[in-house]
Amino acid sequence: MTMDFETYDDDNIFAKILLGELPNTTVYEDEHVLAFNDIAPQAPVHVLVIPKGRYIAHDDFHRDASDEEIVAFWRAVTAICSDLGVAAEGHRLIANQGAASGQLVPHFHVHILAGKNLGPLIAT
Ligand code: 5GP
Repeated sequence: MTMDFETYDDDNIFAKILLGELPNTTVYEDEHVLAFNDIAPQAPVHVLVIPKGRYIAHDDFHRDASDEEIVAFWRAVTAICSDLGVAAEGHRLIANQGAASGQLVPHFHVHILAGKNLGPLIAT
């Protein structure tokens, strides 16, 4: 399957979660941001943080979102790490963009991974 990273897909899984059409385990929500547990966790803590706006990846999010949305997003990421108790122990943030990164869901998201030694940055 070839993924179209040029046009926002209103049928993507995270769009459906935002519309309440698919369930999720919410860990944080505000006006601009939703965060929920990853369905296939890669670490004891694996949370996905998404903006509520229609953005495909970090490229268009940081180009097209309002300052308010961008600040709300990163403040939420920080607050969630604190709330989850993984600020001090350490954690990893990942944002995939496009085919080479293996991005599966074309709605901008940051992975928060924590709860174990996360090992090298990239698996060899
Ligand atoms: P990406 O590869 O796009 O950066 O990561 C997409 C993430 O979304 C994957 O870690 C995958 O497990 C997660 N995911 C895919 N479908 C669902 C779903 O329906 N619900 C939840 N909570 N996570 C999902």
